[in-house]
Amino acid sequence: METATTWDMVVIGGGATGLGIAVDASQRGFKVLLLEKNDFAKGTSSRSTKLVHGGVRYLAQGNIKLVMEALRERAFLLANAPHLTRVQEFIIPVYSYFDKWFYGIGLFIYELMAQKRSLGHTRILGKKELFAALPSLKKKGLKGGVAYCDGQFDDARLAIALARTADDLGGTLLNYVNVTGLVKEKGKLIGLQAQDELDGKEYTISTKVVINATGVFVDNILDMDDPDAPAAVMPSQGIHLVISKAFFPGDVALMIPKTEDGRVLFALPWQDALVIGTTDTPLDEISDEPMALETEIDFIINHFNAYNSINITRKDIMSVFAGLRPLVKTLNKGSTALASRDHTILVSSSNLITITGGKWTTYRKMAKDAVNNAAFVAKLPIVKCATRHLRLHGYDSHILYGSEFSAYGSDAVFIRQMIADDSSMGERIHPLHNYCKAELVWAVSNEMAMTVEDILARRSRMLFVDARAAIASAEPVATLMAEQLGMDAAWKEDQVKRFQEMAEQYLG
Ligand SMILES: Cc1cc2nc3c(=O)[nH]c(=O)nc-3n(C[C@H](O)[C@H](O)[C@H](O)COP(=O)(O)OP(=O)(O)OC[C@H]3O[C@@H](n4cnc5c(N)ncnc54)[C@H](O)[C@@H]3O)c2cc1C
Repeated sequence: METATTWDMVVIGGGATGLGIAVDASQRGFKVLLLEKNDFAKGTSSRSTKLVHGGVRYLAQGNIKLVMEALRERAFLLANAPHLTRVQEFIIPVYSYFDKWFYGIGLFIYELMAQKRSLGHTRILGKKELFAALPSLKKKGLKGGVAYCDGQFDDARLAIALARTADDLGGTLLNYVNVTGLVKEKGKLIGLQAQDELDGKEYTISTKVVINATGVFVDNILDMDDPDAPAAVMPSQGIHLVISKAFFPGDVALMIPKTEDGRVLFALPWQDALVIGTTDTPLDEISDEPMALETEIDFIINHFNAYNSINITRKDIMSVFAGLRPLVKTLNKGSTALASRDHTILVSSSNLITITGGKWTTYRKMAKDAVNNAAFVAKLPIVKCATRHLRLHGYDSHILYGSEFSAYGSDAVFIRQMIADDSSMGERIHPLHNYCKAELVWAVSNEMAMTVEDILARRSRMLFVDARAAIASAEPVATLMAEQLGMDAAWKEDQVKRFQEMAEQYLG
């Protein structure tokens, strides 16, 4: 089917990058369509370490520009989405006086670089203060620690907030629509072909410019444009383990500054659990549902146990999730851990704009650069980017991140009203998790949740926190969704089966 509208811009990919672009382009008044083949943030953007950070590690690598940019963006994000972000204190334990001053000075510089946007003071800790903050840390050989502040967020919920912000600004966003081909005239792109993944319908869509924001999948789209195009990304997998907070009491996060492969490893409180990660494993094959390798799981368990007095084993894992970094391809430096986290923009001779690399933290700047390039090649009117102080959907500075219904920001009032009107709406989907029926109804009617997985993985974060509970919740979620969407018993059965099969790998 051919659609009648000609869009100013079509964005392929509904992760952090594509959603940021949809917000920016809609804000500038462009007619923008975003197509996502799965659900929003199904890819890398729901699988991050959940840090809004300048990147202490990149400072150690000497990438001052990236750190400065990310620190600026960190401040904008915390200011524009207070309901989805917060300040988190981290501690680096140190085992020599040299390290104490080495990391102390490094983190003072990090704080100074943030200038007036600093989130809190860097502090050199003695042993007593260190153990008070991180009581389960192994004590042997410790000389103290260094404490510093960075940001934390809920990645998939931020993606939903971006989608809703773009929608508020007049953008059109569709999940479960896969881009299958590009349409050209005289060598220039004039449109694309897409297929609805839910009903199989095919569409030909006209547009003045196409932006390829498909993360680790950018090479598939580049290939549609030019089968001889060189690869733009080198994927690298990172995994996280989620365990009970009981293994690591306190509110402070641990940062292990140097793992065996020269990376940093975090153990941070998130959603009443502890997230530990990450790894950096170069991959040749990519998929929508990447799987943690046994060696990656062991790597994290061993490193955590080396620092923590309450040891963990595989049976303590509540969830394991893996994500793929879309690292900009370079003439290999050997290790992806050393590869640049900067973003890059490619403009092909057909005018396809491809953006890749970067970080969640810098999504706004990436979007700005992509829209500037797209507007230029499409000869759209010159309109300046104005997202720096744009409050995201649900903005409410009085809501405390992590409090009841905080992920909805100012929309929480509607959820409370649903419960006030019908108390059964306040019933939990799973006894151990706060997510209630009203939230599910809200997600189906206002957040484009189409499948059981959308609810359990990204509208609620149950799959990422407690895979067993999520698997047990598939049936009640499917029943409620079927009622809301008018689906039959076959749909329900299929949804439960698909979700449970997929979720198995999160059990670790
Ligand atoms: C392990 C790990 C930890 C990280 N931790 C952090 C962190 O703490 N802080 C931080 O700032 N950054 C972090 N990052 C980086 C950050 O998560 C990524 O840079 C960011 O999420 C990438 O977003 P994206 O939109 O480019 O890609 P994605 O989120 O992967 O989005 C691309 C989308 O395109 C869709 N797509 C693909 N092909 C098509 C098609 N043909 N048609 C339609 N849609 C298509 C995919 O389904 C996908 O949803 C981390 C990354 C990893 C891997």
